[in-house]
Amino acid sequence: MEFESVIGLEIHAQLKTKTKIFCGCSTKFGAPPNTHTCPVCLGMPGVLPVLNKKVVEYSLRMALATNCKINRQSRFARKNYFYPDLPKGYQISQYELPIAENGHVDIEINSHKKRIGITRIHMEEDAGKLTHNPDRPLSMVDFNRTGVPLIEIVSEPDLRSPEEAGAYLRQLRSIVRYLSICDGNMEEGSFRCDANVSIRPIGSETFGTRAELKNLNSFKHVEKALQYEITRQKEILSDGGEVIQETRLWSPDKNRTTSMRSKEEAHDYRYFPDPDLLPLVIDDTWINNVKKSLPELPDERKIRFINKFFLSSNDAEALTSSRELAEYFEECVKQFPNPKQVCNWVMGELLGLLNAEEKTINESPVSTGDLAGLLKLIDKGVISGKIAKTVFEEMAKTGRAPEKIVKEKQLVQVTDVSAIEEVVSKILSNNPKEVEAYKNGKTKLMGFFVGQVMKETRGKANPKIVNEVLKKRLIN
Ligand code: ADP
Ligand code: MG
Ligand code: ZN
Repeated sequence: MEFESVIGLEIHAQLKTKTKIFCGCSTKFGAPPNTHTCPVCLGMPGVLPVLNKKVVEYSLRMALATNCKINRQSRFARKNYFYPDLPKGYQISQYELPIAENGHVDIEINSHKKRIGITRIHMEEDAGKLTHNPDRPLSMVDFNRTGVPLIEIVSEPDLRSPEEAGAYLRQLRSIVRYLSICDGNMEEGSFRCDANVSIRPIGSETFGTRAELKNLNSFKHVEKALQYEITRQKEILSDGGEVIQETRLWSPDKNRTTSMRSKEEAHDYRYFPDPDLLPLVIDDTWINNVKKSLPELPDERKIRFINKFFLSSNDAEALTSSRELAEYFEECVKQFPNPKQVCNWVMGELLGLLNAEEKTINESPVSTGDLAGLLKLIDKGVISGKIAKTVFEEMAKTGRAPEKIVKEKQLVQVTDVSAIEEVVSKILSNNPKEVEAYKNGKTKLMGFFVGQVMKETRGKANPKIVNEVLKKRLIN
């Protein structure tokens, strides 16, 4: 039997507000344990939470960017459970009435557009962090993260493959970054995802029983864990077995998922409206103000790049995947108005370099001005495209300006015809056999001659002139 997979993602994005969601404690990462705490986020008796307005504003940005319907009235609820990282014994979250519902985003998969539904977006607080000592029966808790604001974005079960899940996740990360509401770092846990997955026979209208996968802290893990889980479920069904609804944990070392808890062991959270917090009322003025403040989003920017710069859809998609990369590109084009050429260098040399050094575009050792400067040197014929790559490497290593490097290393292209003729003469007289063969019809040897001249000039001869001179000389 042929199966198809059905996937829905629950994404938690940590919001980049300065202070926590219900108190004034700092959200800054990396402080000594338990220094960013107060009676409110430590859950002392008798204290009252006060909602951080910025958290609502950031959530509204996300809701508008993902085409959600905004609930004019939403509520906070208590999600009750006991765990040492949760000092109050409950997490404040939104349950029955989230801030936003019924949205969608578009993803592109194999050049096809696909719309993925967003069920809901709600606000909640993060829990603390436990550290377990492997040598002793001892665990430590840090409450700095307790009360840091999160939004949870729940998708409809619209995704049909691990690749689609990856594309959706990337699209959402790109959106939160464009909106400057979350830094989108999966490895550091500021952008986390649980994946729900089931399979069903192709053609079937009903969904199969799903497993919820946890501990997916990179794009690679999400796709690998889904792939593993789909195969596991297919094997069970093909053997006549039944998939059970459960939460499974991904082990990146073992490349497999293992059962964490079944549906029977699932928590009963005993949700109820938090009596300490009023219903949240959002009026049209507030929504309109947030709307006006929204930046250009990745999809809009992509379309603009295609229309304004005549880039291919793939190039535009890649360049707009991150706001910083798109800005880098645009800044370069401003200084060197040949978009295709800039695109080639940004996507090729620059991204190659950044990937190799595991750097982000913001950490690029090559500034937009210097990259544009390099392209101008090629354009003016001062250096060849080949030499430009050497110059680029030097720029990357030293952060120095291309003009300086070219001057110091004497890399200026030789365009002086008589100088090139001199080298050509030397090469031809050093290789009489090849010259003979060429004249007898072995014209493939042209490449050999060009190579020799380039070698002799250490790549500096203008290849076009070299070709012309060689042709002229070899005919006679
Ligand atoms: P819970 O509250 O138990 O996590 P939800 O109904 O909120 O359950 O669903 C959570 C996620 O699971 C959503 O993203 C949804 O799209 C997805 N989902 C629901 N049913 C299925 C299914 N049969 N197969 C795959 N994903 C599913
Ligand atoms: Mg869930
Ligand atoms: Zn606090």
